[in-house]
Amino acid sequence: MRSALARAAPGAQADQTLMSKALFPQHVIARKRDGHELTKAEIGSFVDGATDGSWADYQLSAMLMAIFLRGMTAQETALYTQAMMHSGFVADLRSVQQPKADKHSTGGVGDKVSLHLAPMIAACGVAVPMISGRGLGHTGGTLDKLESIPGFRVNLSLAEYRAQLEHIGVCLIGQTAQLAPADKKLYALRDVTGTVECIPLICASILSKKLAEGTEVLVGDVKYGRGAFMKDKARARELAQALVAVSNAAGTPMRAVLTAMDEPLGRTVGNALEVVESIECLKGRGPADTMEVTYVLGEQMLVLTGVAQTPAAARKQLEAVIANGAALAKFRELITAQGGDARVADDYSLLPQAKMKMPLAAARGGFVQDVDAMGVALAALGLGAGRAKAEDKIDHAVGVSDLVKVGGRVESGAPLCIIHASSQAAMDAAKTMLAKAIVIGDKPVTAPRLIDEIIG
Ligand code: URA
Repeated sequence: MRSALARAAPGAQADQTLMSKALFPQHVIARKRDGHELTKAEIGSFVDGATDGSWADYQLSAMLMAIFLRGMTAQETALYTQAMMHSGFVADLRSVQQPKADKHSTGGVGDKVSLHLAPMIAACGVAVPMISGRGLGHTGGTLDKLESIPGFRVNLSLAEYRAQLEHIGVCLIGQTAQLAPADKKLYALRDVTGTVECIPLICASILSKKLAEGTEVLVGDVKYGRGAFMKDKARARELAQALVAVSNAAGTPMRAVLTAMDEPLGRTVGNALEVVESIECLKGRGPADTMEVTYVLGEQMLVLTGVAQTPAAARKQLEAVIANGAALAKFRELITAQGGDARVADDYSLLPQAKMKMPLAAARGGFVQDVDAMGVALAALGLGAGRAKAEDKIDHAVGVSDLVKVGGRVESGAPLCIIHASSQAAMDAAKTMLAKAIVIGDKPVTAPRLIDEIIG
């Protein structure tokens, strides 16, 4: 039997590796420092150096800073992304019969869309090979949310990943050591050298992992606003355009949706609480904003794979798999296949429960003017729902549910949200932060626009 996973393009890399060995790191760094466009061999030398340790950390860091300050051309970004993607194994999913689509979100507060969108798409006959990340800082991670389901395993081997995709058409796992190892090394250095916020570096980091997972098409959810990685819409658009151009150049058609992230998505923030909200989405009872983002991303996935001709036709298919229970059934299959307890879909009490739950009462009546996503995220982080450092442990049970939405009307004393905490001190701190994050005023407010534009 053919190996499930092929080390990518060994022949194609041989030339590049031979050439790159002759290049001295200091010369390649100096070329970028002086504003030159790097060649394929020079980029290969840098990426090989990160993968096999032949460039020292200080040389990799200097190169990252040179790229940060000088930028990269579209050609350099495409070459860099492909070199990073081929720094490890690339999943060969040709044995999976269905078309394959994935989506990537740049991360937001309360963004649980992957959890219910993946089974919805699989229920429409498109396989979803999804490699996701953990939460860090103010944004949550799909893997942490899934791990709040008792028994759920996210650390499948790449062979198990392929087998599950063949069997049920959906698999959600974490990044393995074999997948884009150059990104693992370089991302850790970027984190401590002030070189994270750089579009070519972000673009290659995201796409090297997504293109290595074996998807045929990709849809990006590029978020902008206070709760997003990119605060500014113009920068988010620039990132979306770069992602689409590089993915298309690599042979993986991509579209990106620009979505607002000023208030949290949906009404819950916190791992197990977001799983409940995702299951509610699959039962046809999801919050309007979460469903709007879900449908728009899902439409693009079905249209790009050719399973639907138009976004309107795709929406009908997506609505049908919710109405007929097929998407919920697929979610149960996914949980069972990855070792989890699928009874959580019917009995939410099987998910981790916080020691105490208390409402935050509105100090006055009026219209909800603002729910600051960053304020809510920091309150959830303080409760223990996220991690400040990669090695921190998280509490899956805690967070915020039943959050009011901008534009809604509240009576004085009515709950603005429910806080789920593990101690009185954590509860008190979260109350203070959330009371500042949620602003009530007299002026009627219309709900903000969520979907800005589709690029690609
Ligand atoms: N996510 C990634 O995977 N890489 C980045 O550089 C930024 C966000």
